[in-house]
Amino acid sequence: MKILVVEDETALAEAVAALLRKEGYSVETANDGKSGLGKALSGRFDCMVLDVMLPGMNGLEVLTYMRVKGIEIPVLLLTAKSEVDDKIKGLDCGADDYLTKPFVTGELLARVRAMTRRLGMTQDINPRYGDISLDMKKGELCCGANTVVLGRKEFQMMEMLVSGAGKITTKEDFVSKIWGCEDDSAYNNVEVYISFLRKKLQLLHSSVQIKTRRGIGYCLEGA
Ligand code: CA
Repeated sequence: MKILVVEDETALAEAVAALLRKEGYSVETANDGKSGLGKALSGRFDCMVLDVMLPGMNGLEVLTYMRVKGIEIPVLLLTAKSEVDDKIKGLDCGADDYLTKPFVTGELLARVRAMTRRLGMTQDINPRYGDISLDMKKGELCCGANTVVLGRKEFQMMEMLVSGAGKITTKEDFVSKIWGCEDDSAYNNVEVYISFLRKKLQLLHSSVQIKTRRGIGYCLEGA
């Protein structure tokens, strides 16, 4: 579950991020409206905490633009004022919930939990990267209308690469999480399965590629 925190008070942004990470969420922050919007539009996030008072482009503008562009992730607005007007405007713009500053951390967590729980029930939480997604129920790799079934280990590896969102996954990570034991054959298996996955990405005509970072591991490119 990836959460984007957009807040221009960097200390607060970092505090919120640290709190959410401790709960097991993967978090990125942005400190102004424009960069927040850019990240939101990348489609890499499942949920968003968005401050209303931001320099340049405010939170309501960010939210409106996201919704126009079809980004439907749940959004928790942080409003500095407790005025009813702001809340109504926020909800009209497509926010799912709001929290008035200053807030206690427990309340923020409760709201985020509630939003992500709803997400689990009403939207697909199939991991995505670029033009591909993983169907967690069917064990399939999908690209547009094309799908291909993955073997269990292939699927686990692809899931790790996709949730890494372009970051490097090391061979050691694959071996320890999927094979559990570190012998040479497990390391060789990683290479074999990576080649299977590359063939399947080609089969799907995906623009996503698995890149080798020699001596380190693998990462996805093409989002
Ligand atoms: Ca602010």
